[in-house]
Amino acid sequence: MNTIDAEQAIVDVVIIGAGAAGLSLLLALDEQQYTGTVKVLEQRSGPQNDRIWSFWHSNAVPSYIESIISHKWSTWSLMTEQGHYSMEHCFYQYCSVRSEQLSALAAERTSRQANFDIVFDCDIASVNVEDDGFIITTANETLLARQVIDTRPPALSSKHQGLLQCFYGEEIRLDAGVFEPSTVKLMDQLRSSALGIEFVYVLPFSANHALVEFTCFSIDIIDKQTLKKRFAQIIKTIVKQHDYEVVRIEHAVLPMYSIDQNRHNSQRDLIYGGIAGGAMRTATGYSFLSSQRWAKKCASALTQRTKLDATALAPINSLYQKMDAIMLTVLRTDMKIGVTIFERLFRRVKAERFARFMTEQATFFDILSVIWVMPKWVFLRAAFSSFFTLSALSNKKNQR
Ligand SMILES: Cc1cc2nc3c(=O)[nH]c(=O)nc-3n(C[C@H](O)[C@H](O)[C@H](O)COP(=O)(O)OP(=O)(O)OC[C@H]3O[C@@H](n4cnc5c(N)ncnc54)[C@H](O)[C@@H]3O)c2cc1C
Repeated sequence: MNTIDAEQAIVDVVIIGAGAAGLSLLLALDEQQYTGTVKVLEQRSGPQNDRIWSFWHSNAVPSYIESIISHKWSTWSLMTEQGHYSMEHCFYQYCSVRSEQLSALAAERTSRQANFDIVFDCDIASVNVEDDGFIITTANETLLARQVIDTRPPALSSKHQGLLQCFYGEEIRLDAGVFEPSTVKLMDQLRSSALGIEFVYVLPFSANHALVEFTCFSIDIIDKQTLKKRFAQIIKTIVKQHDYEVVRIEHAVLPMYSIDQNRHNSQRDLIYGGIAGGAMRTATGYSFLSSQRWAKKCASALTQRTKLDATALAPINSLYQKMDAIMLTVLRTDMKIGVTIFERLFRRVKAERFARFMTEQATFFDILSVIWVMPKWVFLRAAFSSFFTLSALSNKKNQR
């Protein structure tokens, strides 16, 4: 049985989860020279090499993340049956960070900070609020904490109002050069199908080494076997007669819908981070860069010992949330239109405007140019329907 020792030290900050958000927060705390005690509790047995996070470079990338970027590309492209479009920019490059590198950096910083600790094999059973903090129960122990930041991704909801991003991919190596190393194929072979909006994502590390993923934006979950089958057909057309070695597999179903942020405890806020904290751009499925922004704000509040406020820490501002909600309404109503929308964005929006929009740093004119290329009538209809849904929801809340 777990017991609490009266003499047990209270940890200042417990971060649940050593993933993108949890480790980014630890690094941001280190950067801001936080002097309190920090424990990251992770259920897995150790650091994983299970994903590559990509994002567009900007001034918002912290220097410690900059130091572990493994690859940068100046060109990214989209291809449909109608045509091939590419964008190029030498500042807003497309960058990648491997999860194992983030883990290694966090481990290295932790080894230099006596007050920081990362504990693996630690499955959280419960988090309860006490008068002056939290009681965290794991399979092996009970901990006391002044503040808990929970980054465990929530279970997928079957009643969501958005989409799901389902993908299966393999990082492969061949003995022949089949990839164009200078260009990320962001959406290749983009088309609408019975599955939803499907495309192939190719992240080339060299002419004979790349991550290739079959991705689908869909309303329902697409099972791994179906994704794998489509991937097998696609990879044959890419590698042709060459043999290849699979270095790693990536498979996931990610939420492209807003996560309910009203889960906070009435006595003392339990702060959520990462996907659980609303870091995911619902219309794109990207969250890594917004988690960096969140981590910086959160670390700053913790360092200055100000009360954490979930609204002030929101990783994505309400303008993007609303625009993404409209986009998702459009796509849910007619998935086929997705191809036209992405094609127009690539054909008619400048690379730097697109990159800033994708990383929530758009100027007024960037936003205007994105709106301008959209099919007007369907977006207006979706905007009205989103507006009335939101008003109905807020009326309902006020009546309670
Ligand atoms: C394969 C893959 C590729 C992706 N690529 C990109 C990309 O290129 N760009 C991008 O912006 N986004 C990408 N994403 C989306 C998103 O950025 C990632 O999912 C990101 O890792 C989310 O960060 P997070 O901190 O919310 O969750 P995670 O990184 O998943 O971290 C949560 C951590 O909590 C731990 N945990 C869960 N339950 C418990 C428990 N009970 N006790 C203790 N610990 C627990 C988990 O083991 C995990 O380590 C990708 C996602 C996946 C799955």
